[in-house]
Amino acid sequence: MAAAAPSQEELRGLYRELILDHARNPRNFGKLAEPSHLAEGINPLCGDKLKVYLQLKEDGQIADASFEGSGCAISVASASLLTEAVIGMTKDDAVGFFSAVINSLTGTEGVKNFDLGKLAALQGVREFPARVKCATLAWHALNAAIHDDQQTATTE
Ligand code: ZN
Repeated sequence: MAAAAPSQEELRGLYRELILDHARNPRNFGKLAEPSHLAEGINPLCGDKLKVYLQLKEDGQIADASFEGSGCAISVASASLLTEAVIGMTKDDAVGFFSAVINSLTGTEGVKNFDLGKLAALQGVREFPARVKCATLAWHALNAAIHDDQQTATTE
């Protein structure tokens, strides 16, 4: 018997598992030794506070990315998925990806012709408007970090 396409409930279950997995075991967690770009994102509504670190090469490729901070499961999972997704991208691609993710979470039309990969899991928050800011927080920090042309000093 051929397996039927996954139901909405099954997809939701899978997404929940992916989110929980990244929340419990965040990837690329911690400071980069020598970030070329960084920015902090704060979501006072929930108390999420995350910093995104990037190591950009001369040619604009993201050689490494990480994050640290604390927040709810959704904000941490989103940041973890973000770092996995953007490593290896050019910064222009990362900005395009940022726009697609934000649109997928807040837009009314959804995303067309754009493969969000695992990031599609975050779209579950669309049903919970109060959680959208948790999911977008790290992405806004990423965008801010990329657009900071000056090398940002660490606070230490
Ligand atoms: Zn949150």
